[in-house]
Amino acid sequence: MEEEFYCAMAVIIDGKKIAQDIRQEVKEEATRLRVKTGTAPGLGVILVGDDPASKIYLRHKENACKDAGFLSREFRLPRDSSENEVLATIQELNHDESIHGILVQLPLPRHLNTANIIEAIAPQKDVDGFHPYNLGRLFTGNPYHMACTPIGILELLDRHAIAIEGRDAVIVGRSTIVGKPLALLLLNRHATVTICHTRTRHLPEITKRADILIAAVGKPEMISADMVRDGAVVIDVGINRMEDGRLIGDVAFSEVLEKASYITPVPGGVGPMTIAMLLANTLNAAVLSLEPLNP
Ligand code: NDP
Repeated sequence: MEEEFYCAMAVIIDGKKIAQDIRQEVKEEATRLRVKTGTAPGLGVILVGDDPASKIYLRHKENACKDAGFLSREFRLPRDSSENEVLATIQELNHDESIHGILVQLPLPRHLNTANIIEAIAPQKDVDGFHPYNLGRLFTGNPYHMACTPIGILELLDRHAIAIEGRDAVIVGRSTIVGKPLALLLLNRHATVTICHTRTRHLPEITKRADILIAAVGKPEMISADMVRDGAVVIDVGINRMEDGRLIGDVAFSEVLEKASYITPVPGGVGPMTIAMLLANTLNAAVLSLEPLNP
C-alpha cells in the first residue's frame, strides 16, 4: 500500500449516531415483521446477583428492546443461585416460542461455571454469539449469530466505507468476546490479521504496521501516538472507568487523533454499537425462527 502522510486531524467515527441509525432500521424491520407475520422479536435476559454495572447494562438493553418494539422477559436471580437454577431458567427460555434471543449478563458470580451456562443456551437463540456452536460457525466462515461488539466494529468500518480487504489489521487483545471473534470476522473479510496479547514482543513495532488498529485491552490510554502509523484507522474498544468517574479508552485519544485517518472516541464510539447489534441479532433470530428449517 502506498505511504500517505496525514497532517489533518482524523475523522471521528460517531458510533452513537451510527448505533441510532441501526436501531431505527431494526425498529422499522421489526414493525414490518410484526405486520406480516404477527411475530414481535423477543429477548430473554438473565441477571444473577446485583452487580451495579451489570444492572445498568441490563436496563439499557431493556430500554433498547422497548424502543424497538421488541418483547422482553427479564429474570433476576439471587446472587447465591445454584447452577441448576440458572440452567432451569435458560431451559424455560429455550422452550418459550415468544423468545428468540437469550442473553445472560456477564460476569456471573464466581461459583457458577460460565461455559456450562452459555452452552445451555439454544444456539439459534444465542444472540450474544458466545456459544461454541456459533463460534465454530464463525471459524468456518459461515456465521449464524456473531458476537455483538465485533460485528458492531465491522459496521463502523463499513458505514464509513473503510476498506478491509487486503489491509493489515492488528488487534491488541485476544478475549473470546472481542479479540478472537473480531480476528475471524476481519480474516473472513480478507484482511491480514495479527493478534497481540501480554506475551507479544515488540508490540509498538507490530501496531505501527497496522492499517486498521484495534485496541481491546482494558488499559487506559496504553496505545500512544508513537505506536500508530500515519493515516491508520484506530478503533478503541476499551472502557476504563477512572477514579473521578470519567470513561477513558485504551487509546490516548488526543495525541492519536492527530496521526490517524479515522478514530473512535470513548465514550460514543464502539460502546453504543454493542446494544444496536444485539437488537439486530435478536431480529435476525426472530426471522430465522420463522423459516421451516429453524423452528
Ligand atoms: P479481557 O480482559 O478479557 O482481555 C484483555 C486482553 O488484552 C487480553 O487478551 C490480554 O492479554 C490483553 N492485554 C492486557 N494487557 C496487555 C498489554 N499490556 N499488552 C498487550 N495485551 C494486553 O478484556 P475484554 O476483551 O473483555 O475487554 C477489553 C476492553 O474492552 C475492556 O476495557 C472492556 O471493558 C472493553 N469492552 C468494551 C465493549 C464495548 O461494548 N465497547 C464490549 C466488551 C469489552 P492476555 O490474553 O495475554 O492476558
